Amino acid sequence: MYDCTYIEPSHSVRGLFLFPFVNFLNLYNMYYNDDTTIYFDGKFMKAKDAGTDLYGQSLHYGYSVFEGIKSYSTDHGARIFKAKEHYERLKRSAELMHIPFDYSVNQLTELTYELLDRNGFTDAYIRPLVTCSPNMSLSKGQKSYLSLLAWEWNNGYLADKMKIMTSPFQRPNPKAFKVEAKVGGHYVNSILACQDAKDKGYDEALVLDENGNVAESSGANVFYEKDGVLFTPAKGSILPGITRQTVMEICNELNIPVKETFFKPEEMRGADAGFFCGTAAEIVALDSLDDVPFTRNWEETASGRVQQAYLKLVRVLSL
Ligand code: PMP
Repeated sequence: MYDCTYIEPSHSVRGLFLFPFVNFLNLYNMYYNDDTTIYFDGKFMKAKDAGTDLYGQSLHYGYSVFEGIKSYSTDHGARIFKAKEHYERLKRSAELMHIPFDYSVNQLTELTYELLDRNGFTDAYIRPLVTCSPNMSLSKGQKSYLSLLAWEWNNGYLADKMKIMTSPFQRPNPKAFKVEAKVGGHYVNSILACQDAKDKGYDEALVLDENGNVAESSGANVFYEKDGVLFTPAKGSILPGITRQTVMEICNELNIPVKETFFKPEEMRGADAGFFCGTAAEIVALDSLDDVPFTRNWEETASGRVQQAYLKLVRVLSL
């Protein structure tokens, strides 16, 4: 999502976080143009020719599931990072939402490579979206439509560190939503938290769960570091990210201890280092939480080593 904050097309000057300054009249050019090809409801077509009906729960109530995936240019051409994991999560999200969706992971991966190829993209952001057929009766989907969209993205990681604030908004309550699913409607909460932080002069929000524990940002998972140990919120009120999992795998290889646990923002404030991680965000260092700076020189932290390892991994990992 974040995907919304983290999604900026490749020609954004500073990188990923310019959304409030974007001229909305240019959005058409930023995400697609007359030549852009998408996959929609079983066929490849021009983005400008695609349309959908106005009578569905996906548009009205956010009853859709989606993914945020990245492809990188590697020595072997374009490679989609963790395609299997993303498409397994898409299928699981659909299942949790009772949305019928019978594409296989292989089919989805092949279609995505074809989409990249037809558009001539290597470094790209890929957005699969599953919406439902007309119905507004608050009942499960009868038929679904798959859209595969992509736009070029070669920002690399964001060098600037982020100033973040504890949000007054909580993450969706896991007793009200399937928080482990990536569902369109959940992101209304993300928009509120992210925009609130920006309006108050911060780059991003740190959002708590219903018990006041740190959960995640509006579109990325969070880690902080103390005395060489990384801490990240345990599952329950978070979207358990594929990047979060990759970070844990990298830590395992680098012998960096990681603890998944519940903690309050007080425990994170003034720690040695902190970062957000997600497909779009990659690994973004945090400058401060609620104006309290993280204390150690980023380059000398375990977090900095993880960031370097991640940046290498995304460019070498093939299918
Ligand atoms: N949490 C939220 C709310 C997100 O939107 C994202 C981005 N998908 C993440 C965490 C990170 O997930 P991933 O690493 O799978 O991109």
